[in-house]
Amino acid sequence: MKIMKFGGTSVGRPERMHQVKDLITRGEESKIVVLSALSGTTNSLVNIGEALAAADKVLAKAKIDELHTHYNEFYPKLVTTETARKKAQEIIKEHFEFLNILLKISFNEAINRDILAQGELLSTKLFYTLLEELKIPAVFLSALDFMSIDENAEPELQKISDRLKSILAQHPEDTIFITQGFICKNHLNEVDNLKRGGSDYTASLIAAAIQATACEIWTDIDGMHNNDPRIVDKTRPIAEMSFDEAAELAYFGAKILHPASIWPAQQFNVPVKLLNTMDPEANGTLIKAKVESIGVKAIAAKDGITAIKIKSSRMLLAYGFLRKVFEIFEKYKTPIDMITTSEVAVSVTIDDLSHLEHILEELGTFCSVEVDRDQTIICIVGNMVSESKGAIQSVIDSLIEYPVRMVSFGGSRHNVSVLVDSKFKKEALQSLNQDLFTW
Ligand code: ADP
Ligand code: ASP
Ligand code: MG
Repeated sequence: MKIMKFGGTSVGRPERMHQVKDLITRGEESKIVVLSALSGTTNSLVNIGEALAAADKVLAKAKIDELHTHYNEFYPKLVTTETARKKAQEIIKEHFEFLNILLKISFNEAINRDILAQGELLSTKLFYTLLEELKIPAVFLSALDFMSIDENAEPELQKISDRLKSILAQHPEDTIFITQGFICKNHLNEVDNLKRGGSDYTASLIAAAIQATACEIWTDIDGMHNNDPRIVDKTRPIAEMSFDEAAELAYFGAKILHPASIWPAQQFNVPVKLLNTMDPEANGTLIKAKVESIGVKAIAAKDGITAIKIKSSRMLLAYGFLRKVFEIFEKYKTPIDMITTSEVAVSVTIDDLSHLEHILEELGTFCSVEVDRDQTIICIVGNMVSESKGAIQSVIDSLIEYPVRMVSFGGSRHNVSVLVDSKFKKEALQSLNQDLFTW
């Protein structure tokens, strides 16, 4: 059994949903089809939640109505028979009635997460209606029946696996299963989600849960490119990469994959394929355990980074200093991305600023602290980058025009990271693209 995940653009128009239907009905293999919300929907739902949180009911109502109109225009182009259209109307009615009720009750975070879940529920139900109309046998699975996260918002892979396997066992004859990406239940049994872009994570978790033969991520581009195509000219798709390389790129900003979406597939050695719904015959990118190629493969950039320089004359020759520093970040559950050290200072970067004030306050009790905001980590990834001749030299040469705040090299065999002020990001990426890739 394989997993086929389709992102927002892939289901964002009625004719695209028809394409998805064609893709999932090819071949004999059984599949679990994971769908995102129609493109733009989750952003609208975020806006509705923000308006409600700000008690701006007029704005919330206007946003709900706008989204409602979008769905009312969508379904007649998706399905044509009287029965199917009626069904689609009822689905849309149910979900927009729910959103409208929220205008009348008091808002809280749990309600906000319920709002965010409407997109995937709508897309899967509408898609299922299309399959029913076309008499394509399929089973509708609610992700809320098997996807769950614990109190630290970590997915409960074993539980997901147990539940999903027992659900699938009830349908031994069926070959197509449709479910929602992104949404799950949390430890309080409330509706929750796997964070923005989380449908990729759902797909990989399901792939791991059932030890699938492949995890196909269908999107709007022909695979992982060597640099961010939204920012840099002349990027090209990468045919193959290792799980480690893909994980670094996803974590350090390649938007095509959710940052955590590689580890579940990697853990069970399920190959991940990035494919293009708009061009299904394109090769895409195959992500697997081992790849042969050596050298720089791709670059990604992660914005919104804050660098903290922690300085203490007592750090010199002292042991236990780093432990003290790290304990503070641990206490505030704030992950550190990059670290560089000198004899008297250590610089770290974080992107979660929710506890920054407390962290700085505690660090300030035993060292001096400097903070630089609006930084970008540029991550250069490749198989054994750190062993390929001159790799670091060409990175430094290429960035000669830009003030580099930190460099991290040698931490893993396939990553060199540099930190620059975000205002230099575009030029730095473009320059690296020209200098590190020779084609
Ligand atoms: P989906 O809705 O299918 O999940 P996303 O918008 O989340 O799609 O991801 C696909 C987009 O990621 C592409 O359209 C592209 O603009 C962007 N992207 C950013 N970095 C890369 C990269 N290195 N390779 C490919 N696409 C990238
Ligand atoms: N719909 C969600 C989002 O836009 C999840 C996803 O598309 O992966 O973030
Ligand atoms: Mg995505």
